[in-house]
Amino acid sequence: MTGIKEPSFRESVDLMFNRAASLMDLPPGLEEKIRVCNATYTVRFGVRLRGQIHTFTGYRSVHSEHMEPVKGGIRYALAVNQDEVEALAALMTYKCALVEAPFGGSKGGLCIDPRQYEEHEMEQITRRFAYELAKRDLINPSQNVPAPDMGTGEREMAWMADQYARMNTTDINARACVTGKPLNAGGIAGRVEATGRGIQYALREFFRNPEDVQKAGLSGSLDGKRVIVQGLGNVGYHAAKFLSEEDGSRVIGIIEWDGALFNPDGIDVEAVRQWIVKHGGVKNYPDATHTAEGGAVLEEKCDILIPAALEGVVNMSNAERIKAPLIIEAANGPVTAGADEILRKKGTVIIPDMYANAGGVTVSYFEWVKNLSHIRFGRMQRRQEEARHELIVSELQRLDRYLGDAWSMSPDFKSKYLKGADELELVRSGLDDTMRIAYQAMSEVWHDRDDVEDLRTAAYIVAIDRVSKSYRAKGL
Ligand code: NAD
Repeated sequence: MTGIKEPSFRESVDLMFNRAASLMDLPPGLEEKIRVCNATYTVRFGVRLRGQIHTFTGYRSVHSEHMEPVKGGIRYALAVNQDEVEALAALMTYKCALVEAPFGGSKGGLCIDPRQYEEHEMEQITRRFAYELAKRDLINPSQNVPAPDMGTGEREMAWMADQYARMNTTDINARACVTGKPLNAGGIAGRVEATGRGIQYALREFFRNPEDVQKAGLSGSLDGKRVIVQGLGNVGYHAAKFLSEEDGSRVIGIIEWDGALFNPDGIDVEAVRQWIVKHGGVKNYPDATHTAEGGAVLEEKCDILIPAALEGVVNMSNAERIKAPLIIEAANGPVTAGADEILRKKGTVIIPDMYANAGGVTVSYFEWVKNLSHIRFGRMQRRQEEARHELIVSELQRLDRYLGDAWSMSPDFKSKYLKGADELELVRSGLDDTMRIAYQAMSEVWHDRDDVEDLRTAAYIVAIDRVSKSYRAKGL
């Protein structure tokens, strides 16, 4: 690839789209209609802070309205720009189609470094941004439903939801205007962990398919696999924590904004997270070696690389040196189209962002449904299920007494069996099911078609096919 320019994030998404579309038989013109972004709104607004007016620039881009509302996170970062927001909005369209969440794609961003402002200032800025978006129906339960992304979380979502409710006092569905809210403000159990949990479920599903595992030159299960994660924020932290605590994987590298930690014997993810909360970064963490040039650790030997921070971190300048045989894209767009080609030739298996980090939007979908139905999941049926289970348990107890020493119930069977599922369990079950089914749709195309070399192209084919069917059903 020497001499070829590194494609931007937006160009990468387009190149990957075109690669898949060229293998499909779409009606003339529809390919272009699906690929382009419908509209991007730019807003500049002033907020009086510390005795002077500060001007901020924000975006909300709507990629596709084949289904409404459209959905996608709002990012707070200095590097936010129109191209990035449009690329992210396009990815949302394909992601929602792949995991069968009934939304079009959208994304928003505000050019800001949240670390520079105090909480009350962030609230003022967020409320003003939300006001500008809500005024134009770019925050609206039936048209456009934002969620958290880099630099935003439950706190910002609660402010936005409240701002919308103040502006729409008679809207009974006001709470459904954003997702990722705190539980006490209309959120859902399991949303904060959802994207990281989805990474875990995606990897579990991958490792259930020995043929796919073999394509990456790996074998066995997640147990003992060496993991390097970049970004210990919401997504990276939860993914690394669950994989190490529940699946026996060993996190040997953690890359953050202020350098990387490396320890071949494994790093305690929770301890590093607490260190970051206290000290603001990973530097001086005692139980691992610190490297100031964090990016170099992306190139260390490991089994699974999880980029969970920024886009474009695996690019044409380092792709050749990436040793991980399996990359799961927890962040959006961490591998550029140029790097993707190099890695494909090397035989690296990439589980693409569009699928891998879809756990967030999946649980956001559950939250939105919960808000519209105005009832917590499981509230109607939980005790009824328990009562039915009680019947079986009492019959088994009768059998237990009758059979004497020949058979007895396992000690914790009764309590485990009787316990009805709470909201968190239902959410995790729905997420697990979604991740399994979407993987199967994607891998079927990967296996069945000789002209499809990788999971990313397969994912695009599944998604584009669904979006095109939806447009055609609308008569386009
Ligand atoms: P976050 O802000 O919670 O975490 C990002 C982390 O990356 C932070 O810990 C930050 O310090 C770190 N970081 C920043 N610059 C870095 C650098 N140069 N090198 C290494 N680390 C750096 O964000 P998040 O919500 O975890 O999002 C991360 C990625 O996942 C983004 O690409 C986002 O679009 C994607 N994503 C997030 C969600 C979600 O639900 N939050 C859903 C889907 C996709």
